[in-house]
Amino acid sequence: MGIYKNGGFQSGDFQSRKFEPGECAVSDLIIRGGYVVDPSQDLEGTMDVEIRAGRVRRIAPRIEPRGRPTLNARGRIVTPGLVDLHCHFFEGVSHYGVNLEASMLARGVTAAVDTGSAGSQTFSTFRSGFLDPARMTTRAFLNISAGGLLIDGLGENVDMRALRVEDAVECYGRNRDILLGMKVRLSRNVVERSGGRPLDAALDASKALRVPLMVHVGDTPDSLPKILKKLRPGDVLTHAFHGRAEGILDRRGRVRRAVWEARDRGILLDVAHGRASFSFDTLEAAMAQGLMPGNLSTDLHTHCIDGPVYDFPNLMSKFLALGFSLGQVVRLSTQTAAAWLGMEGEIGTLRPGARGDVAVLRMREGRFRFTDSEGAHRRGGRMLEAVCVVLGGEALRPSGKNRRRLRRVS
Ligand SMILES: [Zn+2]
Repeated sequence: MGIYKNGGFQSGDFQSRKFEPGECAVSDLIIRGGYVVDPSQDLEGTMDVEIRAGRVRRIAPRIEPRGRPTLNARGRIVTPGLVDLHCHFFEGVSHYGVNLEASMLARGVTAAVDTGSAGSQTFSTFRSGFLDPARMTTRAFLNISAGGLLIDGLGENVDMRALRVEDAVECYGRNRDILLGMKVRLSRNVVERSGGRPLDAALDASKALRVPLMVHVGDTPDSLPKILKKLRPGDVLTHAFHGRAEGILDRRGRVRRAVWEARDRGILLDVAHGRASFSFDTLEAAMAQGLMPGNLSTDLHTHCIDGPVYDFPNLMSKFLALGFSLGQVVRLSTQTAAAWLGMEGEIGTLRPGARGDVAVLRMREGRFRFTDSEGAHRRGGRMLEAVCVVLGGEALRPSGKNRRRLRRVS
């Protein structure tokens, strides 16, 4: 047992234990006999995974336990801990905030990125209360609107007085170690009559800070090509496959030229399913023309956790139903976000030296009906569920009525 900084967990039942911000214990563990899927190494097969002092040591067909703790994963799928690039966990403050451990860690997510729940005036509380104490990896985008996503039914950008570029730049400067970029939402109900100005304010802050911008689209008053033209390589178009006005398809269902250009310039097309932001029809039309999502993310929040999103493994199951291979789905759920985060080799992989963060999933077979944000359905034969999550070598199992609590596997 040791302690390392900025890691993920402390042993024991998370609800009854106190832990120091940014500190976590590390453990040894051998995960035995699971079907390992790690696209970062082009690895798929039944293997053992050895974690030593919180880090992956090796993967091999058979590793002798020699008295060390083991986790039986026979009949299970073993992947790197899932990385969710778009979710909301400023719980109890933002109306979107869900519980980080119950809704994400217990569902196999070991690295979670909050996308703009807090702005310059609320970020210090978000950081001290949620980001720093988390035992999993957490990062955030800073909302250009000073309060962040506070009030249900009142868009944070309806009044330009709430968008304070100088305050955002100053706040960002103090929290660079945990922030990934700026965030702005541009849907009609969020911006109302403020036109293109929220995007320009967010771009001003991003450019001053030289950091990426995540832009939320879907039913925007501005045309998508006009928005994309302003984005730079490394920026993120989130909710890229929505089914609302100003989407990636033209009226005849063809991928718009500006979208191909944006992808080629290195703008990430992030899924971010959410309540209103993912359409099977849009994704299928795009895929038929060769346009693939750049990354899978849930946009998990209070308004979609009881459907249509539920959790990350459910989202992965939808993509299996859409014809993606298991390897493709795992890659888009681990490696792609880790790469975007600049944390390749550290998370989203089971390469030797990576954090010992692992998702252990069950694949149920049957007949399942999946629903998108438009109320459309697709049928699929496979459903993934998290049965266990490993953080820094410690195995935790979801428990309780809704399987949203975690208990240590002894
Ligand atoms: Zn969101």
